Amino acid sequence: MIRKVKDVITAHRQLEGGGFVVRRPFPSAGARELDPFLLLDEMGPSDYSPGEAIGAPDHPHRGFETVTYLLSGEMQHADSAGHRGKLGPGDVQWMTAGRGVVHSELPSERLMREGGRLHGFQVWVNLPARDKMVPAHYQEIPKDRLPSARTDDALASVRVIAGEALGARAVIETRTPILLQDWTLEPGASVDVPVPRDFDVYAYVFEGGATVGEGTRLDEGQLAILGGGDAVRLARPRESGSAGRLLLLGGVPLHEPVARYGPFVMNSEAEVRQAIADFRRGAF
Ligand code: MN
Repeated sequence: MIRKVKDVITAHRQLEGGGFVVRRPFPSAGARELDPFLLLDEMGPSDYSPGEAIGAPDHPHRGFETVTYLLSGEMQHADSAGHRGKLGPGDVQWMTAGRGVVHSELPSERLMREGGRLHGFQVWVNLPARDKMVPAHYQEIPKDRLPSARTDDALASVRVIAGEALGARAVIETRTPILLQDWTLEPGASVDVPVPRDFDVYAYVFEGGATVGEGTRLDEGQLAILGGGDAVRLARPRESGSAGRLLLLGGVPLHEPVARYGPFVMNSEAEVRQAIADFRRGAF
């Protein structure tokens, strides 16, 4: 059974962090969380002049994971435990914040100096109550280690960050079952992606457009919330002038209470207050 589109959320561009442009389908008036996901930000695309690029200086996280996936540009990050890294186009950083990190996420020095395009995603994946206080942990996957596959007709292709598609299986390990995939659909593409029945599934179109489910057309900047079934149908009409691209997200919903205050996402207000107190006394 093909999953049907139950609802569509249209994202709008807004300013975030130090003032960079994001398109954020949720949290929004349309949806606070999409269990097990807490946030989806499309960063840019922004074209920066030399000296203009901005990012997010030191800030904390506790109780969830942040996934950064770049399409264009370069970012650098550094955390309170001395962990440092750099991300380029196609690279993924899957950070399990767990009990806490303080980190900065900035354009690379080269991008700041020379300017250029920054485009990518940050997804917040909630952690189940049992894992909210695990030690912070990173999985950093460069572009050439990210599994990819295409359909036999080569009209649909996928880069698999989490889960499995067209026989390509993710190298990233997740704490609960998650799928996160970057799909490119050339005009005329149609693919049915099997997804376990116990997953909730969402599709966010970020380039061109796509047809999701049983014929629901989405424009770029729109997110589809899918109903139950065995598979998600993704397509791009033959008459389209260009490829469509979308992120397919899914996971087994946690069905746990969510208490969120900015960068702290716990199960109760008391745990959030504890997170703030721990952060203030420098325990991250
Ligand atoms: Mn962060």
